[in-house]
Amino acid sequence: MESEYLTLIEKWREIYKTEVRNRKRMPEVAQLNPEEYLNVRRPFFTHISPEDAEYVRTFRMVSYGMLSYSPSLRAVILRGAGYNLARRLTGTGEIKSVDDLPRVFLKQRIGLLDIIDESFNKMKINIYECISCYQSPPIGRTLCDFEAGMIQGAIESLIGKNITREIYCWGLGNSFCGFEIVFE
Ligand SMILES: [Zn+2]
Repeated sequence: MESEYLTLIEKWREIYKTEVRNRKRMPEVAQLNPEEYLNVRRPFFTHISPEDAEYVRTFRMVSYGMLSYSPSLRAVILRGAGYNLARRLTGTGEIKSVDDLPRVFLKQRIGLLDIIDESFNKMKINIYECISCYQSPPIGRTLCDFEAGMIQGAIESLIGKNITREIYCWGLGNSFCGFEIVFE
């Protein structure tokens, strides 16, 4: 299980590196097709929980409902929700260090979190098979505000105030999510 997981992360890193190097992005579509957005099969998560697609569908029904209502409100609310949740999880000790993030994101089925780079003023974190955006049609905007909020909140508690931005996302035509964390 452990080695299988690490091999998978390595495969995803290759995809990430190739896409960033070639600046490869899928062409934008005008609108999010709910059939495509709501029905996805995440290979790794389906392997560990066969009913994964049903749970993702429920989560995305909420996400899609908010997106149809107001994309900007959705972004603010989901980021705030993720931020507050992560602050709680660092408060209860469920997240004690940055190295706990992959385990928590895996356990909650949010996605496969991969810490790409850590330096004194900047961090890079990727998510693969993300619950919010995996295989979403490219609609010209990022979709993972909840995840961005969680990363921002956790890192603020553990390290310090930061700005977390999602720069790669299925919503932008990539095959993974990439977050850049800059310390203030
Ligand atoms: Zn994303």
